[in-house]
Amino acid sequence: MSEEIKLVFEEPKQRIKPPKHFSDLAPEDRKTLAVELGIPAFRANQMAVHFFTHYNDDPETWSDIPKDLRDTLAKEFVPKLITLVRSVTADAGKTRKDLWKLHDGVLVESVLMSYSDRTTVCISSQAGCGMNCPFCATGQAGLTRNLTAGEITAQVVAAARICANGELPGGEARLSNVVFMGMGEPMANYNAVMRAIRNITTPQPDGLGISARSVTLSTVGLVNGIEKLTQEGIPVTLAVSLHTPDDELRDTLVPINSRFKVKEVLDAADKYEAKTGRRYSIEYALIRDINDQAWRADLLGRLLKNRNAHVNLIPLNPTPGSKWTASRPKDEAEFVRVLEGYGVPVTVRDTRGREIDGACGQLAAAEVISEV
Ligand code: SAH
Repeated sequence: MSEEIKLVFEEPKQRIKPPKHFSDLAPEDRKTLAVELGIPAFRANQMAVHFFTHYNDDPETWSDIPKDLRDTLAKEFVPKLITLVRSVTADAGKTRKDLWKLHDGVLVESVLMSYSDRTTVCISSQAGCGMNCPFCATGQAGLTRNLTAGEITAQVVAAARICANGELPGGEARLSNVVFMGMGEPMANYNAVMRAIRNITTPQPDGLGISARSVTLSTVGLVNGIEKLTQEGIPVTLAVSLHTPDDELRDTLVPINSRFKVKEVLDAADKYEAKTGRRYSIEYALIRDINDQAWRADLLGRLLKNRNAHVNLIPLNPTPGSKWTASRPKDEAEFVRVLEGYGVPVTVRDTRGREIDGACGQLAAAEVISEV
């Protein structure tokens, strides 16, 4: 049999489902499940306090719960979902990238960044990504699988624990912000991401009690997802990865644009803004001589001048082997000037964690595997 035919007939790799975790469930369902297993409902509250208030995911140490029950809880409610493979730091320890191994050996990354006024964790919603944006490292390897709500939440709980333990410079801190800007397209894993957002924003002890406005969901612009989010009644900050105001170039930079055009995406974001009152953010990676021309800034300014949006310019972080690079400083400055001329609020994002491949679009665990 030739190699090619063998490949065709090869059984698809059987995926082992990630273990069920109580953070996959809504608080009332956690109680229902406990009762179904013959465990009093108040134990679900105790679990939640350990997990979401004390960031403690090791039932062995939950001394207010009888030993036998702790074993059951460990198995049925709080199986270990993510294991730290390694951490690397940059910016004098203020940026820390963690590589996590999931139960099936799949790797994902999160990045914790401490600033004078806030501490932000950038988390992954999928292992890999199916959106295939040519400038993004994660996009190059394709999608491995969706993360579960538990796996997404676990990254945030781990970050909250690192902050509370005083592991970042400056000592004990509170995790204040969460951004879905790690690996993956959150709108393509909608239900798990929504459950995770509820875990993040629900007050303690049923959730982490981080305010919705401090949670940013960044999307390539899956319009159906933005519309669904509009109906949720959770005013998270919406970020749209636009990268160019014209459909012609966007079809290349963000291939899903062939399905959802610039205008449709902005209209959906406007409706989100109208419903939540939340200004949205336009993400724009500035790529030298590709999307950084003054005329594109002008077109973007016209598109946004009457919208409640803020532009976040990201100097391109070149991926290995890419022919593209960041804009010249003078072109970046001109881009900002043109947008400001239209009264559009604009900031240039700092590039935390570049040297540890922790900056935007660099979270490609596949690259890291070879180094581990
Ligand atoms: N899939 C989501 C979230 C992941 S990436 C989205 O696309 O919005 C978070 C942001 O980093 C996105 O705006 C993405 O376009 C941007 N990004 C990806 N690769 C980049 C790179 N190489 N340099 C700069 N920004 C990049």
